[in-house]
Amino acid sequence: MKVTTENLRSNIIKDIAEISGENVAECYQCGKCTAACPVNQAMDILPHQVLRLLQLGLADEVMNCKTIWICASCFTCAGRCPRDVDLANVMEAVRVILLRKRDSTMLKAEDMPEVLAKGMPEQGIVSGFRKYAK
Ligand code: SF4
Ligand code: SF4
Repeated sequence: MKVTTENLRSNIIKDIAEISGENVAECYQCGKCTAACPVNQAMDILPHQVLRLLQLGLADEVMNCKTIWICASCFTCAGRCPRDVDLANVMEAVRVILLRKRDSTMLKAEDMPEVLAKGMPEQGIVSGFRKYAK
C-alpha cells in the first residue's frame, strides 16, 4: 500500500500530531525502534508497524492492538530513531485518543470533590485530566 496524501490527512494523524507533536509521516521504516524495544516479543504489532499502519490511515488496527497497552513508555525507541520520531509519545497519544472515545470514563470537573474525598493521589488526578479532558 502507498502512503497517499489522503491517508496522511486522516484524522488520527492530525490528532496524534496535536496531542504529541509527533509527525508519523517522518518514519521511513528502518525498524531500529522495534529492534531496540525491550518488550517487542509481547507485542502483536511491532513498533515500526504501528507507525506504518498509522501512515496508511489504518487506525482501527492500531486502536484494537495489544501493543499500545504493552508499550512501557521507556523511550528507548525514541533515542534510536534517526528521524526523531518519538514513538513512546505516539503510543501515548493513541491511548489518549482511545480513552477519550470512552466517554463514560471521562473525568469531569464536577466529579472532583468526590474523587478528592477518596484520596486519589494528585498525580492520578493530573493524569486523568490529561487523558480525558478534551
Ligand atoms: S526508528 Fe524511527 S524511522 Fe525507524 S522505523 Fe522506528 S520510528 Fe520509523
Ligand atoms: S517506548 Fe514502548 S515501543 Fe518504545 S521501546 Fe519502550 S516499550 Fe518499546
